[in-house]
Amino acid sequence: ISTSDPIEDHRICVCVRKRPLSKQEVAKKEIDVVSVPGRGSLLLHAPKHKVDLTKYLDNQLFKFDYSFDETSTNDIVYRFTAQPLVKSVFEGGMATCFAYGQTGSGKTHTMGGDYSGKKQNSSNGIYALAAEDVFRLLKDRKYSSMGLLPFVTFFEIYNGKVFDLLNKRSKLRVLEDGKQQVQVVGLQETYVSSASDVIKLIEMGSACRTSGQTFANSNSSRSHAVLQVILRQKSRLHGKFSLVDLAGNERGTDVSSNDRQIFMETSEINRSLLALKECIRSLGKNSDHIPFRMSKLTQVLRDSFIGENSRTCMIAMVSPGMGSCDYTLNTLRYADRVKEL
Ligand code: ADP
Ligand code: MG
Repeated sequence: ISTSDPIEDHRICVCVRKRPLSKQEVAKKEIDVVSVPGRGSLLLHAPKHKVDLTKYLDNQLFKFDYSFDETSTNDIVYRFTAQPLVKSVFEGGMATCFAYGQTGSGKTHTMGGDYSGKKQNSSNGIYALAAEDVFRLLKDRKYSSMGLLPFVTFFEIYNGKVFDLLNKRSKLRVLEDGKQQVQVVGLQETYVSSASDVIKLIEMGSACRTSGQTFANSNSSRSHAVLQVILRQKSRLHGKFSLVDLAGNERGTDVSSNDRQIFMETSEINRSLLALKECIRSLGKNSDHIPFRMSKLTQVLRDSFIGENSRTCMIAMVSPGMGSCDYTLNTLRYADRVKEL
């Protein structure tokens, strides 16, 4: 991608990131069907099986604010996606950044750093990079005299229920008052004094996330994880940044499942991802009606979909392999709809 500065003034930014083929995929001679031909564009060479028995390739071009190919690092992705949002939060804004995509496409790698293998390396994901910038900006001349204090919450939404990852995964109630203010009752808000404090909390919280047994690579793929960095001035809320590692979007595949629990999980995930799309679109249209009650995820993020100072960024992750083609197409179409006004 080009080295010019990120778009600073968009309320909604939609990007796509392609991960490299894994060693296993290379060993299985998996074909890479995704390419990034230029800034913001992404090309999917989807095989057309049904039309003709000889599989010929159908090229589909998608356009986003930014597209990141397999050589892009988390640092680069961060700079063009979440970094401008951190700045807006210091200006008193509400910001959200979503990692969307099929299980195994790189959501957690992008957000939390790499948790694959035995050794956790969470120092290089968007969570950690954002935390570092928060502490850098707190010392900045422009903000240091404002008396801002940073707090962190970290919770998981699984099957429409909220669990506090910073408090033994205790189940929390969500209440809405007459003024539509939404409150997660008892959510632990932890004061942090350094980026490494934040990383420690994330590692602790990640260790107790729900893990499903549905897919081979399914660790925590059935729940949304929400990390919030909250800036307070005295006890008043100044700004809030929510970073969301969404549940895998492999929709439909298990809906026919006889397993009731999997059926329920899948319906709930589909509902929340649909709700999220609608809420972001309302934000983009400056609409008065935000359908945040459609799901628990959008309900708890309600604050972030309203007001002049709300901004959001979605990073759609795609796997490069031919075997993931259908999921990749779903992801790209979803991201396209979020972007489109
Ligand atoms: P998800 O959270 O979407 O299920 P993960 O982030 O766990 O997917 O990624 C699946 C695997 O692919 C992990 O082993 C991860 O390390 C690897 N991976 C994902 N994105 C990248 C990338 N951009 N570069 C290198 N490896 C990646
Ligand atoms: Mg993950």
